[in-house]
Amino acid sequence: MTGPPATAATEIRPRRRVPLTATNGALSGGHRRRRAVFVDRDGVLNDLDYDAEEGRVNAPLSSASLRVFPYAGESIRRIKELGFSVILVSNQPGVAKRQLTMAELRRMNAKVRQELAKHGGHLDGEYYCMHHPEALVAKYRLDCDCRKPKPGLLLQAARDLRLNLRQSYFVGDSLVDVKAGRAAGCKTVLLGHSTTFMASLIEKEHAEPDFLVSSLRQVPGLLAGESGHSVRAA
Ligand SMILES: [Mg+2]
Ligand SMILES: [Zn+2]
Repeated sequence: MTGPPATAATEIRPRRRVPLTATNGALSGGHRRRRAVFVDRDGVLNDLDYDAEEGRVNAPLSSASLRVFPYAGESIRRIKELGFSVILVSNQPGVAKRQLTMAELRRMNAKVRQELAKHGGHLDGEYYCMHHPEALVAKYRLDCDCRKPKPGLLLQAARDLRLNLRQSYFVGDSLVDVKAGRAAGCKTVLLGHSTTFMASLIEKEHAEPDFLVSSLRQVPGLLAGESGHSVRAA
């Protein structure tokens, strides 16, 4: 484990809920660290926006355009029922780039929490990197240790919530997530489809995930050992 990140970008870490069991374990002197499933936000919990002009997908930039996947809340509830803490870990450089306000980002995150809660899905923590090396807002212009693919946010969460990273998973839809998860010592689950393009990208980036599944919906089953396609074993 490395030392604390130079900057813990946790300015908007709203209402972190530490599960009672974690606290009880610490108080009783137990060494049991909890297992966690870290989840990326955009493309994992909520859909991406398609920009027809640019011909590519982007993270949504307003709460109005943010659409939480209908299965996300139930998936998180099921993951938690397997004994994992579920922690959101996301790069959100939009405020730094003046693409949206902090107030709007807070509204978006509140919407994610509300939509998940409708199906019994409650996050145990939310960690955001607000930085960008080319930020327009000076206070966020930083080559920080918490922007994925660096593992700073995961290491911070592990310290705060007493997590066992080796027994934890990172679920993301980008190779940046795979790299951050691997750097933190977690197992990694990439959401995507097994295509030649994906395979060559994974090889080029040296970012081979432990598992590849199509959506968060498959993750509870994967963790329960019921299904899942192991890329490494293939
Ligand atoms: Mg993503
Ligand atoms: Zn950062």
